[in-house]
Amino acid sequence: MAINIEAMRAKLNASKTGNKGQTNSTKWRPTQGDQTIRILPTADGDPFKEFHFHYNVGKNPGIMCPKRNHGEDCPICDFASKLWKQGVDNDDATCKTEAKKLFVRKRYYSPIVVRGKETEGVKVWSYGKTAYETLLGYVLDPDYGDVTDPETGTDIVLNYDVPGTPGSFPKTILKPRRRPSVLCDEAIADCAELIDSIPEISELFDRKTTEDVQALLDDFLSSETSSENSSSETTKYSTKNTSGVDEAFDKFMNNS
Ligand SMILES: [Zn+2]
Repeated sequence: MAINIEAMRAKLNASKTGNKGQTNSTKWRPTQGDQTIRILPTADGDPFKEFHFHYNVGKNPGIMCPKRNHGEDCPICDFASKLWKQGVDNDDATCKTEAKKLFVRKRYYSPIVVRGKETEGVKVWSYGKTAYETLLGYVLDPDYGDVTDPETGTDIVLNYDVPGTPGSFPKTILKPRRRPSVLCDEAIADCAELIDSIPEISELFDRKTTEDVQALLDDFLSSETSSENSSSETTKYSTKNTSGVDEAFDKFMNNS
């Protein structure tokens, strides 16, 4: 039998993206304007998942915080609070701004289907605190209740607006449909199959150990300092074999 080229391409893609090919296509972002979504019920009864990330650490995408997600030590949290304290003690606004950029941020995730695209299967939608509180508000409002219920739940119209002005954030407005509806019309998709295929959301992210995070922070700090002082050989250090936070912090402060 001839080799299946499409399958080979998918395998190569999955390999290049660290076997996350499939899960990446699960992540969903809204597009400009209106779209209708249905949030799916999860087996544990909580379809609004909360995760903690650090952003602005070099070119890394959001880094899962070991402390806030898993109760382990987090070198970035430690570094950021030390930097913040330093900023407060010295009334140094730059220092405080840099610290704030590294503070942990919450993101929220829910399994959804996009109306009109049910055949694409379950997607995972990522949203911020305002949308999170709005959704909880609807669930707690007796006029709506459990919006995820497959029989009596409610679709939600999501308006996404990306402002043209630089530095302003995209805005998400959520409005439940006036009438409840079933999750799946038999003609469109198999409801049980859909619910069965909801991914474990935590598995969409790389879990990072304290050591992983330390290495990422070290890389970030040494590239920060060496790019600012690239003429000096002495700035090309590595903090990998040191005690970590304290030393990295001192170097960061001395070099910036
Ligand atoms: Zn952290």
